[in-house]
Amino acid sequence: MKEQAAASVPLVRPVRVLHLEDDARDAQIIAYKLKAGRLACDIERVTDKAGFEAALARETFDLVLCDHNLRDYDGIAALKLSLSKQPDTPVIMISGTLTEDEAVDCLRGGATDYVLKQRLQRLIPAASRAIREASEHRGLRRSQADLRLRDLAIDAATNAIFIVDAQAPDQPIVHVNRAFEQMTGYGTEESIGRNSRFLQGPERDQPEIDRLRQAIATGAQASVLLRNYRRDGTLFWNNLQISPVRDEHGVVTHYVGIQSDVTELKQYQVELEYRANYDTLTGLANKNLLGDRLTQAIAWANRVQGRIAILYLDLDRFKIVNDSLGHAKGDALLKRVAERLKHNVRESDTVARLGGDEFAMILNGIDDPSAAAALAQKVLDDLQQPIRLDGHEVFTGASIGVCIYPGDGPDADCLLKNADTAMYRAKHSGGNQLCFYTVDLNANALERLRLEADLRRALAMNEFELHYQARLTLGSGRSTSVEALIRWRRGESGLVYPAAFIPLAEETGLIIPIGEWVLRTACAQARRWADEGHTDMRVAVNLSTRQFRQAALVATIASILEETGAHASQLELEITESVAMHDPEVSRAVLQQLSDLGIAIAIDDFGTGYSSLAYLKRFPIDHLKIDQSFVQGVPDDADSNNIVRSIIALGKSLGLTVIAEGVETEAQRAFLTVEGCHEMQGYLHSRPAPAAGLAIGEPDLPALGAR
Ligand code: C2E
Ligand code: MG
Ligand code: MG
Repeated sequence: MKEQAAASVPLVRPVRVLHLEDDARDAQIIAYKLKAGRLACDIERVTDKAGFEAALARETFDLVLCDHNLRDYDGIAALKLSLSKQPDTPVIMISGTLTEDEAVDCLRGGATDYVLKQRLQRLIPAASRAIREASEHRGLRRSQADLRLRDLAIDAATNAIFIVDAQAPDQPIVHVNRAFEQMTGYGTEESIGRNSRFLQGPERDQPEIDRLRQAIATGAQASVLLRNYRRDGTLFWNNLQISPVRDEHGVVTHYVGIQSDVTELKQYQVELEYRANYDTLTGLANKNLLGDRLTQAIAWANRVQGRIAILYLDLDRFKIVNDSLGHAKGDALLKRVAERLKHNVRESDTVARLGGDEFAMILNGIDDPSAAAALAQKVLDDLQQPIRLDGHEVFTGASIGVCIYPGDGPDADCLLKNADTAMYRAKHSGGNQLCFYTVDLNANALERLRLEADLRRALAMNEFELHYQARLTLGSGRSTSVEALIRWRRGESGLVYPAAFIPLAEETGLIIPIGEWVLRTACAQARRWADEGHTDMRVAVNLSTRQFRQAALVATIASILEETGAHASQLELEITESVAMHDPEVSRAVLQQLSDLGIAIAIDDFGTGYSSLAYLKRFPIDHLKIDQSFVQGVPDDADSNNIVRSIIALGKSLGLTVIAEGVETEAQRAFLTVEGCHEMQGYLHSRPAPAAGLAIGEPDLPALGAR
């Protein structure tokens, strides 16, 4: 086997053999043996020390054959000379008479082998083996030298480098270089044996880490940017490249990680990004970011079929401030304006400065253009307030253009342009106002705004009044209660009915003070009637959703009763089914507290809200008012008849007083009387009227049938 291996050593050139032999015949035989074997070789023969020395000095040989018994020279000395001159070249000693001791001396002296002249058939395998082993040794030494060089190179590298064992559990670091220690602050001992993730500190879910894991799982290269932490806790941005190292079978045995600290670059990038997207003076979004956000908002609106509003704002008197107080004050003013704008919108909305004294806002998810108008008005009011700048009181004020998506433009550019156009219209109309891009919206929104402002004024100017409509017993025709209904005496518009303003009051929250006014006025009236001797006269007051939901409702009512001196038994409250059913558990608790005060509760407009009577049974209610839409149908419409009949029956079975609303005809009254309805209310008897016009306390109201 050895022979085979030896014979198969690939040689690209003939083997150079130096042969020291003073016997010509032996030299010939040996040369013949070598040539006859399959060893391609060039043989240089020398016969003495001088020739040997000269040859060794001249060139490097692949093999030295050295006769042990020379006439004028010592074989062992020749061996030593050869090894000293060419340590990598193997020497085979050849002798006719080698004793065992001499053979041992040869091998101790560094010979690779020895061959007896009588057994020259060993020469070829011995030579081949010697040459092969020498070549392997040379290779090994070269690779050891290479490795040392590589270690030195890794250590001298300016990039931080670490090597990971890919096969060991949890892939520990097995080597780090000096730059790694300097960059991370972790020494070799602290790093080796740990997985390199310790550099991530607490930030284990960085987006790029997944890419790193994926690369490791598939044995690929990767370059990732990570937020890493030094030993002292400071953050650095690590641009990490990992490359797999494979063995001769292609299996990944190691990973080499090369780190560069790109913190400064990253900070610069962050700064650049900030400058690209934000206004440096105010910290608001700039035009660029506004465009992005608007495009996103449009995509959102398309997805959910929602609406967005774009407000374009320009200060009315900025130039005056800038010119008279100087640029520094001008800048300070812009900052203050930015704060006020931000203060007025939700976190999800965007406020941007477009340059100079121009700003824009994106309002996401507005239900109605009027909501945008209301916000714009709030901003205008806010900017009407003086701004104090180092002792100066500055009045700025602004003009706002409003655009709605969809409707006023298909994309961000167009919407901004149209909002700008609308802003100019506002400015040309005298400033300090808002203007919609779409003229119709303008009219509607402005009307609503005016209505809202007028409602506020109405409250302050006492323009509301209460009318009362009597409720009477169907049997006796006696009236012991009235329903208070609000009216608004609005300047030239005359009397305005609740349907025209209660919804807006509800939306804006104005219903709370208005409702309180109604309760106070109604209770004061009840007290007045009691003082006039009508102690059993009751007033029913309607409560809207928002009123009923206010936390302080029970306390407010109790204090109004106290304040006016009306008795709780004189007050009734009407709520609709939908108000009661909105959050039934809360409603039940509130109604119970009111009922405990001694106040009667009526369910208004019953039959329109689809609630079940069985459910209402759980509420502490006293009266059921059949909605006028059903009453209107009787007695001619069979369906209405059935509905009214069953409401009366069910109400009675629950022990409630059943009241029919909107009774306008004798036929209706007759039907209701036959069906056993308890009370009625409607134009047939009387229309709502101011307290002064009511015939209170008359035993049998005579107006039956006469309206
Ligand atoms: P409601 O509580 O159901 O009041 C009955 C409405 O029917 C009143 O309208 C009344 O004028 C009208 N009405 C009375 N008899 C007849 C009739 O025979 N035929 C017809 N067609 N209508 C009749 P009004 O005063 O316009 O009030 C409308 C609604 O506004 C009320 O409905 C109530 O929900 C609300 N409302 C009125 N005043 C107040 C208030 O002070 N606060 C609150 N929150 N809501 C109120
Ligand atoms: Mg009512
Ligand atoms: Mg009603």
